[in-house]
Amino acid sequence: RNQIEARGIHDERVLQAFRTTPRHLFVPKDHMAASYEDHPLPIGSGQTISQPYIVALMTEQLALIGKEKVLEIGTGSGYQAAILAQLAAEVHSVERFEILARKARSTLAALHLANVHIHVGDGSMGWPAEAPFDCIIITAAAPEVPQEVLEQLGADGRLIAPVGSRYRQMLELWTRLPNGFEKEEILPVVFVPLMGKLGWQDPNEP
Ligand code: SAM
Repeated sequence: RNQIEARGIHDERVLQAFRTTPRHLFVPKDHMAASYEDHPLPIGSGQTISQPYIVALMTEQLALIGKEKVLEIGTGSGYQAAILAQLAAEVHSVERFEILARKARSTLAALHLANVHIHVGDGSMGWPAEAPFDCIIITAAAPEVPQEVLEQLGADGRLIAPVGSRYRQMLELWTRLPNGFEKEEILPVVFVPLMGKLGWQDPNEP
């Protein structure tokens, strides 16, 4: 109520998904006590589970109605995927660390969220084998939104991603139009980097 609703998230389906998703199950035991605080937490492999408000904001921007096929790039703990699973028809999520992917799969299975498919690999190029997607959400900081990933959006598709330098990004919402793409800037944010062929190659690059 205080961290998400009071800060302007009004989509009732999104709020309901947050109310019913046990965030503490996605957080390592030594950080569990802080699960419901509004900040990111470490999940191992140098990665984080994102701040709940930002997860809610990015989710709301996708305006899901329940029929969509969604791609998430950056599974991490699987928490964002669990929220998406309750709001869309099918979710594909890509993670570069096998150990995180495996843990996320088991958490999602324990919650009986069978419509999430977790892939291990470099998601910086999207996931062409499952394209097109109605929505794409990149949950790691990209130097830019790769054209190759935008092209995996179907008609009227929406993509949201933090885009910018390694240490500061702007949340960008892209919409596919009949003759190209439209971009809207939503909020400044800070995410861990999107590594890989179309992301960052060196994690310490500025
Ligand atoms: N959405 C996640 C959650 O709900 O816990 C948080 C994502 S965390 C901020 C970013 C994740 O993106 C990390 O787990 C990181 O390993 C992953 N990542 C970074 N570059 C990637 C790439 N090229 N392909 C797939 N995953 C990547």
